[in-house]
Amino acid sequence: MSFEDMPVEVGVIYEGERVRKAQMLVEFGGPKIEHKYELCRAKKMDEIEDMKVIIEGPDISELEEGKSYPFGMVIEVAGEQVEEELEGVIERRMHEFCNYIQGFMHLNQRYDIWCRVSKDAFKKGLNSFQYIGTILMRLYKAELSIIEKCQMRFITDPKKAEQGYEEALQIYEARDARARALSDDDVEEFYGCVLCQSFAPSHCCVITPQRMALCGAISWFDARASARIDPKGPNFKIEKGECLDPIKGEYTGANEAVKEKSLGEVERVYLHTIFEYPHTSCGCFEAIAFYIPEVDGIALAHRDFRGPTVNGLAFSTMATSVGGGLQTEGFLGISIEYMRSPKFLQADGGWSRVVWAPADIKERVKDGIPEELFDKVATENDAMAVEDLEAFLKEKQHPVVEKWVEEAIEEAPEIPAEAAAPTPEMQYKMPQPMQVPQMNVPITAMPGMGGIQLQGFISLPGLVPPGGGEDKITLVLKGVKIFAEKAYIKREKKG
Ligand code: SF4
Ligand code: ZN
Repeated sequence: MSFEDMPVEVGVIYEGERVRKAQMLVEFGGPKIEHKYELCRAKKMDEIEDMKVIIEGPDISELEEGKSYPFGMVIEVAGEQVEEELEGVIERRMHEFCNYIQGFMHLNQRYDIWCRVSKDAFKKGLNSFQYIGTILMRLYKAELSIIEKCQMRFITDPKKAEQGYEEALQIYEARDARARALSDDDVEEFYGCVLCQSFAPSHCCVITPQRMALCGAISWFDARASARIDPKGPNFKIEKGECLDPIKGEYTGANEAVKEKSLGEVERVYLHTIFEYPHTSCGCFEAIAFYIPEVDGIALAHRDFRGPTVNGLAFSTMATSVGGGLQTEGFLGISIEYMRSPKFLQADGGWSRVVWAPADIKERVKDGIPEELFDKVATENDAMAVEDLEAFLKEKQHPVVEKWVEEAIEEAPEIPAEAAAPTPEMQYKMPQPMQVPQMNVPITAMPGMGGIQLQGFISLPGLVPPGGGEDKITLVLKGVKIFAEKAYIKREKKG
């Protein structure tokens, strides 16, 4: 396959390339734009014209520099073996193939895409969707031999993009609804996906009927169809094997597959919990579930939620720390569809453990939230700090509040009065969820190798010595190894 007639180069080496704001000519979709989508549609052979590119609205060269535009990107495919069931996985390859194009960036999926053309690429001649469409279709045909004919549409006209967006949402919903009728227990096999290993080498998605892939773009049906037509491709069958724990969701087959595909990096995976051996997270998860130790509850945030969440950290901050194929206890990349699943974090209590979620998320998955819990889950309108969250949960009698009382009773030690005041060391050896000044997770502690490896990030807001007061306290971690990707030291001036 040659791209010599194209103005820019095309290849895997450009996959990790990011087009930063300063280098950007124009962007399509992204956080500032509501109407954006990508879609694959299966067509009959006579319905499309092979390798045709249709542009509905202004082309790249006609757009104003530095601006963001509504965007639809649709590939229509046909072939003897092409069927509707394959639309989801064909569509998902858009991310990979777009990123092969030098100077063209693609992030996320479905209704959430974000593309940029760089100024350098434009100078080289990448000034039309004709080129982008042609490159993508050549890649598609080379990689997926079932595609005999294809054509592409790029939509930048605001009205058409809005209409296309609404239709796309309905198509995604219909795809996802199909898998809702099936339970993990009804099937003999799960499916895996390693498409994201190009940037998260130890990541392997385990996709089950009740656990949609964390990117929110590949259901069990999608992965099954893909594995059938392209057994050497990124999707493959995982024999369930023996079920070791039906609540946490541990299966010998999933463990073996994940171990093999992560080249031994990950040995065990629990499908329905954020603790112990949670599923790995790559980078394109639609949402994050994260533990809030102070209230012993789980919060949710999705990619579109701007600004800090209830623990003071923004989605983007957490995403940078927990992605990359890591297994990070207390943090989990998930799809929004999974929040509807009857097995949603079932080992942790499911929705009865969720204490905070953006209002937008609650509305979107309302049908999956038990009615009696709906008002007990705080949103950004109820609490934006852990102290406020605690008060809200108490007031609403959220189920986690009962656990606070039980734990307090269980933990109350009968020890002499003078020994009762915890030393700093004790306090951190025995984290007590209700003592607010604690480590602000996420932290994965992995004992072994002569130390503890902490993954993620630590901040110690409001760290005060036991009993309060003005004294400074020193946190001593003995025999511990800390690996940090980034460390920030912030100096705060008094007064
Ligand atoms: Fe595949 Fe998982 Fe990546 Fe989605 S997130 S593309 S299912 S590896
Ligand atoms: Zn991913």
